[in-house]
Parts: sequence; structure tokens; C-alpha cells
Amino acid sequence: MSERAAPFYCPYCGDEDLRPSEEGSVPGGGAAWECAACNRAFRLKFLGLLAAGLRPAHTDGEDPSP
Ligand SMILES: [Zn+2]
Repeated sequence: MSERAAPFYCPYCGDEDLRPSEEGSVPGGGAAWECAACNRAFRLKFLGLLAAGLRPAHTDGEDPSP
């Protein structure tokens, strides 16, 4: 799994002409993507893991006493 996820379509207009934005060219900083069709810049943000993925593997089948 790469650090930066690559979008296939613009979430706003659906165009496929996306280019990686330069660092610092978007307010807030960080890596972003630019859509050449609608001239929007957006960012794919990792929010966190789902609750189902938070179960540690080493406690599987055992009762973790707090
Ligand atoms: Zn677009």
C-alpha cells in the first residue's frame, strides 16, 4: 500500500485528467491532486481504520483482561 493513493476520477466532475499537485501550491500544504478539467484541487485523506480492523491479531481467541 503506497503512501499516496491515486484517484482515477475527479470527485467533482468525473474527469480522468488528474495531475499530482506541487507541494505547497494548495492552501494547507501537503500532497494534493489537481483536475485539469474543472481546475479544482483536492486531497485524498486517510481518516483511520475501521473498527473491524482494530482487533489485534495476538489477542485473537483470548480474553484480554484490562
Ligand atoms: Zn474535475
